[in-house]
Amino acid sequence: AAKEAGRATFRMFEGAMVEEMQARIALEQDLRRAVAREDFTLFFQPQVDSRTGAFTGAEALLRWDHATRGMVSPAIFIPLAEQLGLIGRIGKWVLTTACREAATWDPHLSIAVNLSPMQLADPRLPRTVSQVLAETGLPAERLELEITETALLANDEQALSTLSELRRMGVVISLDDFGTGYSSLSYLHRFPIDRIKIDRSFISGVATDQHSATIVRAIAHLGTNLGLKITAEGIEDGDQRDFSALYGCDNLQGYLFSRPLPAEKLPPAFAGRTTAPEAA
Ligand code: C2E
Ligand code: MG
Ligand code: MG
Ligand code: MG
Repeated sequence: AAKEAGRATFRMFEGAMVEEMQARIALEQDLRRAVAREDFTLFFQPQVDSRTGAFTGAEALLRWDHATRGMVSPAIFIPLAEQLGLIGRIGKWVLTTACREAATWDPHLSIAVNLSPMQLADPRLPRTVSQVLAETGLPAERLELEITETALLANDEQALSTLSELRRMGVVISLDDFGTGYSSLSYLHRFPIDRIKIDRSFISGVATDQHSATIVRAIAHLGTNLGLKITAEGIEDGDQRDFSALYGCDNLQGYLFSRPLPAEKLPPAFAGRTTAPEAA
């Protein structure tokens, strides 16, 4: 009977695996088609200056506008796109679309674009970025590229030289989700970066959890002393905003200020100064 039960369990398990694989293959086909048709949309989440409350720019967040699944989260399809070798094309589309949009904004505002580790590992990245900047007319200083600690550690030499080249061009480099990876605070000074974004998982606890508060203070303190700028991400309430501002985060992002929005829903402050039409 135990053997019978074992076989039944195995068949069930096997069935679940087959289903999972079929679902995955369907998703793969969908993603390939989406890339070919560029069925993607960028949302933009505004960021604010912690002292003045004024907008400083926005982060571009990718959405897959799927016919039946609705808006698919990048957390689901970015890893798949990497495995399928599609991230290069998607990443180029994101960069171009984000820069083209930001070029229409008020010139004080910047745009942050997320890079996957595979994009950072590609030695052609600096050339791609300079082409996109030339094509869209966005000044390099208004482009911020977000990378993760894992991307830095995985590629090492290649990644470091690529980042240095991007910074020489004037592009701002920020380290996303800081605190969730493996790099220690003592390595920070070795990375060619301008900004760190403290991960939402620490920010969410600053008002209620002593450990989160201590970690955020330590990251902000050391980062600032190393000459880095600090963003707090995932700010959802006034306590988190006040704490982050008090302990040295110059830039804030989170639902308290705004959810990610389609370009046309961005606040009026984003509108570029339209030049008055020439009097005929
Ligand atoms: P991320 O770069 O850390 O982006 C922040 C994520 O936190 C976004 O999720 C954003 O919608 C969410 N968020 C912002 N404020 C709040 C808040 O106050 N509360 C909560 N609960 N969440 C908040 P999203 O858009 O689902 O993106 C998830 C991740 O997918 C991003 O994390 C980023 O790693 C990746 N991603 C997004 N767009 C791209 C892209 O164009 N390329 C690449 N390679 N990765 C991307
Ligand atoms: Mg990001
Ligand atoms: Mg982040
Ligand atoms: Mg995050």
